[in-house]
Amino acid sequence: MIKIRTYGEVTAFCMGRSIGPLVPYRVYAFLMGNTLIDTGTAYARDEFMAALRTKRVSTVINTHQHEDHIGNNTVVHDAFGAAVYAHEDCLPYMADPAALKLKAYQRFVWGLPERCSGSPLGKSISCDGTTLQVIPSPGHSVGHVCLYEEKTGGLFTGDIFCGRAVRYLRRDEDFEEILSSLKNLARLDISTIFCSLKGIVNDGSAAIAAKIACMEDLKRQVRELADTGLSPREIRIRILGYEDAMHYLTAAHFSKQHVIDSILAGRAETPCL
Ligand SMILES: [Zn+2]
Repeated sequence: MIKIRTYGEVTAFCMGRSIGPLVPYRVYAFLMGNTLIDTGTAYARDEFMAALRTKRVSTVINTHQHEDHIGNNTVVHDAFGAAVYAHEDCLPYMADPAALKLKAYQRFVWGLPERCSGSPLGKSISCDGTTLQVIPSPGHSVGHVCLYEEKTGGLFTGDIFCGRAVRYLRRDEDFEEILSSLKNLARLDISTIFCSLKGIVNDGSAAIAAKIACMEDLKRQVRELADTGLSPREIRIRILGYEDAMHYLTAAHFSKQHVIDSILAGRAETPCL
């Protein structure tokens, strides 16, 4: 499945694996000028390449190395001769996707990417008259970056924003690090967020501020309940409820408990004085 929407200078490609009438997960890639930010999932390869048939891609920038962001790197590189860039910490995973250690549900929903090589990103990257600032934004994965175009205030956020509320985390995500990355982004004047999960989000600065407030409130609630002596599991049930399909379908790779556990682990490392 692929759906295409144009927003100013940016073309948004929303894609996912079609299983009959179902698309269990969608991810966005964005084309601005001749620069492609992420390349989506391998399962939408034919539709994605057909959609790019009338375009030109000179540069690919990956926000991070996850399989739903690099899935078509190789085919885009081969078709257009496009140069591929990512944070240096992402490059080993792109060269050997087996290192991603994909779980069964990830292979089913997104597929294993082909090997691809790339070059490390610097502090900014210019392409066809457009300059994007490269902003390290860890917490979701190692090597995660956001890309900011100062001229328009557009911010490509990869998987660091993903909407206001945090109800689930991956086992390897870090709540406090995500929050810190968002606070770093909050210093920017952001008109539009181009999010890999939510697509186009207007009034970007307000959306980032709302997410930070939501996360701070959640952290406060978790810590207050921990101080009353509740266990992490009891805190999760009290605030986020029982685990649901996300937990069971991903074999607990995504879960509500990881949110609580990550907040409490962050507290142990950075105690409030
Ligand atoms: Zn990701």
